Amino acid sequence: MDKPEPAGTVWHLLDLVSLDKPPHGKPCNGCGLCCIAEVCDLGKELGDEEQCRALMPLSAGRFACGLVADPYRFLPPERLVPWHAIDQLAPGGQGEQALKAHFAGLLGAGRGCDADDEAIQAFQGEADANRQLSLL
Ligand code: SF4
Ligand code: SF4
Repeated sequence: MDKPEPAGTVWHLLDLVSLDKPPHGKPCNGCGLCCIAEVCDLGKELGDEEQCRALMPLSAGRFACGLVADPYRFLPPERLVPWHAIDQLAPGGQGEQALKAHFAGLLGAGRGCDADDEAIQAFQGEADANRQLSLL
């Protein structure tokens, strides 16, 4: 990912983060920092470029991408038409399963942490500085 530009409106989301980011390339632990630091292009298509509408806080400090975990909840109805059509034709929600796999592939799920270590550190440092300023 490119170096993220810190956005003040998302700094409060860091309060939900409890897991350390693994090094780049190591297995993703769902810490959520990449998506908080910068909304990806798929997330931007959902209408918010600063705070992703599909970012789902889970238990134990983990986050999930809603486009992979529950795409029918996050995509607008007009984008679901072909996937619902597959559901109608094939039993077992195969349209939804195919859509989940589609987004998992686009996002590189299972290929390890793709967030730049230095960029995330810079983002967290910027957030810490902002919080201290707001206490003055
Ligand atoms: S890709 Fe990296 S920064 Fe993003 S949630 Fe996974 S471990 Fe965290
Ligand atoms: S669409 Fe998914 S991967 Fe992209 S920023 Fe949102 S939650 Fe993260």
